[in-house]
Amino acid sequence: MTKPLIAITGASSGIGEATARAFSAQGHPLLLMARRLDRMTAMDLPNTMCRCVDVRDRDAIAQAVKDAEAEYGPVDCLFNNAGIARLGDIGEQNPEEWDESIDINIKGVMNALHPFINSMKVRKHGTIVNMSSIAGRKVYPDHTVYCGSKYFVHAISESLRGYLAPHDVRVIVISPGIIDTEVLDHVTDPNTLKAYKDNKVRIGGGISADHVADMILFAYQMPQNVLIQEMVVTPTRQEF
Ligand code: NDP
Repeated sequence: MTKPLIAITGASSGIGEATARAFSAQGHPLLLMARRLDRMTAMDLPNTMCRCVDVRDRDAIAQAVKDAEAEYGPVDCLFNNAGIARLGDIGEQNPEEWDESIDINIKGVMNALHPFINSMKVRKHGTIVNMSSIAGRKVYPDHTVYCGSKYFVHAISESLRGYLAPHDVRVIVISPGIIDTEVLDHVTDPNTLKAYKDNKVRIGGGISADHVADMILFAYQMPQNVLIQEMVVTPTRQEF
């Protein structure tokens, strides 16, 4: 195996799936993690280990990483992507959706980082790409806890970047706007969903996850001493 191993959480659909395909096309072995194993195995990518992993389970992530590294060598890039968007009227929303968002979008992000911080630091090589959102840079109505979780991603990424930079490990944040994926499929608030969909139509639709994947690949392929700290990508007509 000449190219290094890439680990992706939330690889079963949307941006994670597109990124898996992009890195695989470049000849990288992959560790794909998500709950829907069937969706990952259906991609049928070469040199790929697919694991049914819930990012709320830190031990399951660690075991998957250990197994993949035993077969393909150390992970050189983590795409820390798994996330949910339980948008809704904060006064009406069931707090269980807050719990789920915090457990997956905040604790899950830390759980996925855990196996890599020290190992990349010791190896003095590696790239971490943390998935934030345009909602991690500014707030929107009905995005209250989602925005909080994505601001969290920005905060820990900046701190981690400072911690790992002296060891030549790169920490990148990517902040997309409206991308065509399944991310809104589980929104339970009909008014929130309608407002989101109306806005999407107004701006001429979202953009393909393939564009986000191409940006991640581009940033990764830069020399190790070149760090694109943050990438923000939106449909051109998404003015805010
Ligand atoms: P999708 O819903 O298509 O993908 C989300 C991925 O996260 C799926 O693979 C899903 O897999 C995985 N996931 C969710 N919960 C868990 C969990 N508990 N454990 C493991 N994996 C989990 O949407 P996107 O591709 O759009 O979302 C990917 C990321 O991009 C998210 O963090 C999202 O917040 C972010 N984002 C998306 C934007 C958009 O407009 N689409 C804009 C800005 C940011 P499974 O269900 O199989 O576990």
